[in-house]
Amino acid sequence: MLKIAAVEPESLGAELGLAPGDELLSINGRELVDFLDWEFLAADEAFVLRVRTAAGEEVEFDIERPLELPLGVMLEPPRIRRCANRCDFCFVDGNPEGSRKTLFIRDDDYRLSFRHGNFATLTNLKDKDVRRILEYRLSPLYVSVHATDPEIRRRLLRNPRAPAVLEQMRMFAAGGIQFHAQIVLVPGINDGPVLAKSLGDLYEMGPSVLTVSVVPVALTSFSRLDLVRSPEPREAAEAIRVVRRWAGKARGERGEGWVYGSDELYQIAGEPFPPAEEYDGFPQVENGVGAVRYLEQHIESEAAELPLMAGQRVLVCTGTAMGTLMPNLLPALERATGATFELAVLENTYYGPTVTTAGLLPGEAFRQALAGRGDVDLALLPAESVNEDGRFVDDVLLSDVERTAPMDVRLSYHFTDALGACVVGRES
Ligand code: SF4
Repeated sequence: MLKIAAVEPESLGAELGLAPGDELLSINGRELVDFLDWEFLAADEAFVLRVRTAAGEEVEFDIERPLELPLGVMLEPPRIRRCANRCDFCFVDGNPEGSRKTLFIRDDDYRLSFRHGNFATLTNLKDKDVRRILEYRLSPLYVSVHATDPEIRRRLLRNPRAPAVLEQMRMFAAGGIQFHAQIVLVPGINDGPVLAKSLGDLYEMGPSVLTVSVVPVALTSFSRLDLVRSPEPREAAEAIRVVRRWAGKARGERGEGWVYGSDELYQIAGEPFPPAEEYDGFPQVENGVGAVRYLEQHIESEAAELPLMAGQRVLVCTGTAMGTLMPNLLPALERATGATFELAVLENTYYGPTVTTAGLLPGEAFRQALAGRGDVDLALLPAESVNEDGRFVDDVLLSDVERTAPMDVRLSYHFTDALGACVVGRES
């Protein structure tokens, strides 16, 4: 069921009298199942839309509009497609008991893969999903490949019915679909020769596979540590060697590195990150691939635009992953703003110390770090640590952290976003 959540004022939707709660039934007689149908079928200049109003009346609209005139209809969030797998390393199993319900959703949704770049395994596709992917040209898709060997992949996903991913990808590629792939590295299972073979198979697919990332398995204190473990430094270093081999070949033959190790892989191995230019525009930065180099580049290019904040003290809160790297980034900010930057490296008190990424830090850790710091004018918190409802992973509200902190608090993805419009100082 496709329901309207909101209608923009002065849009065509508002002019037609569409309203929140109305159900969008069909376009040109074709049933609307989800947001994909809506977006693709309503993209034409002329179509017939059938709606059931919140009062239960069915109405048909004969719509003709210039394409630049938006319909202005926002939909209720889609029902997320659930996952058919049971990976030993699933992050859902890594949640402490009592975490909020949404953290226990095992989502595996090709629609969100296309729309938001969420990785999907494609193991829960029905025939009609396959038809839609091809018809709507949902490309690129972000696919969790993990291993191209079907049996090894089934073992990793704990899903004996998982289809052979290479066959699936080849079939989609023949229909013009491209992919960004990820391989979550589980030591002893899909590293070593399995990793080399997976990369070889994906490389052979040619331009259909746009990029591949190799990411070490992420575990918390609550994960199935009896079944799975993190890579050791030598295993991470070996994976980096395999990545480099294929990246070198790809750069020579195709002009781009094609396969990239995540920042965490380099950190586990104790090796320096490749230079920024080797990330080829950071195609998988949201998967933690090249995030540090991206941040450095961003600060460098934006520093000149930052306001002068001489005499101000700024506290930068981050996780232990960035804790050792951040000191390299802060001097550039100090030079540009004249402010003093101090780093607060926070251990993850919610998931345990093995979870090092700033985006999963709990609100309580920030609250404690900021308490009693009246000497600081501004605190920068990682923006990824707060969801769209303004909550941290432990359900603490950002507004509560802001209210109790003795300084101005801002969320920041890359410093310059928060500092750019900065008027520092507590409001009275
Ligand atoms: S694919 Fe694996 S890791 Fe992802 S949600 Fe399913 S079980 Fe969890």
